[in-house]
Amino acid sequence: MTTQIISGTEVARAVKEQVRSDVAALDAAGRSVGLATLLVGDDPASHVYVGYKHKDAESVGIKSIDVKLPESATQDQVTAAIDDLNARDDVTGMIVQLPLPEGLNDEAAVERVLPTKDADGLHPFNLGRLILGQPGPLPATPSGILTMLDFYDIETAGKMAVVVGRSFLVGRPMAIMLGTKGRDCTVIQAHSHTPDLPGVCRQADILIAAVGRPGMFTTEYIKPGAVVIDVGTNRTDDGLVGDVAFDEVSEVASAISPVPGGVGPMTRASLLVNTVRLATPA
Ligand code: NDP
Repeated sequence: MTTQIISGTEVARAVKEQVRSDVAALDAAGRSVGLATLLVGDDPASHVYVGYKHKDAESVGIKSIDVKLPESATQDQVTAAIDDLNARDDVTGMIVQLPLPEGLNDEAAVERVLPTKDADGLHPFNLGRLILGQPGPLPATPSGILTMLDFYDIETAGKMAVVVGRSFLVGRPMAIMLGTKGRDCTVIQAHSHTPDLPGVCRQADILIAAVGRPGMFTTEYIKPGAVVIDVGTNRTDDGLVGDVAFDEVSEVASAISPVPGGVGPMTRASLLVNTVRLATPA
């Protein structure tokens, strides 16, 4: 069997082309698009991620606004910084880089962002709209995954999907989105308490691995011919690796996304899509 490699890098390039043209059209109509990031503390990985987001924004003509607070920042200072960005006309979308340093409340920060500027699509108002099937910014990682499936003409309707992981960032919205009308998957949401996880995963026509354990998903977890999407991003001595044992699983899957070069670039591309959507008059 020839296995299709699902290249997030390639799909993200196409998405960014579209975003660049949408931004130019908004600009021509007198509406500038601005994406702000709020980064608190010294976590090196968070600094790298925020750097990418600015580079991405600038590469498609979106103005990027970079706000940083020290590790010692209090919750009140985080709230005040978000309020400032909420009030700025040149900020049409905003991202609070998570996780915040220990002692600060991620959920409170996410809720403080105006839903109309929520580029991450994680505000409870927007997650509620997602459940109700109403339009709005979508959580970036699951949204990017669906865009990848569409790009490679991978049908979801009538398929059995297993999503392993139930975080509010990835697993839960992913399961909801795959099960919505129009996507029409039958979805199993698995997690650390799921009995016989390999057996459950072997039911999947589409398997989404979002756990954070390097190489956990071996062929024991894979139905032959399944589509396997690897969300895991694990920094190891061998570099960045996913949750899926890529070499062996690519022998049995019909399609598989690599790490790096799979879901990661699509998450970033989806943030740009949300930013444009938020700047577009209803
Ligand atoms: P969380 O730690 O918030 O959630 C992990 C989930 O995996 C939990 O639901 C947990 O279950 C489940 N889990 C943990 N161990 C097992 C196990 N042995 N068997 C079954 N389920 C298990 O992580 P995130 O959802 O934020 O991220 C998951 C991975 O995806 C990470 O590697 C992260 O770096 C990566 N990621 C990648 C992104 C990208 O753009 N490529 C974006 C976001 C995340 P329980 O709820 O029971 O504890």
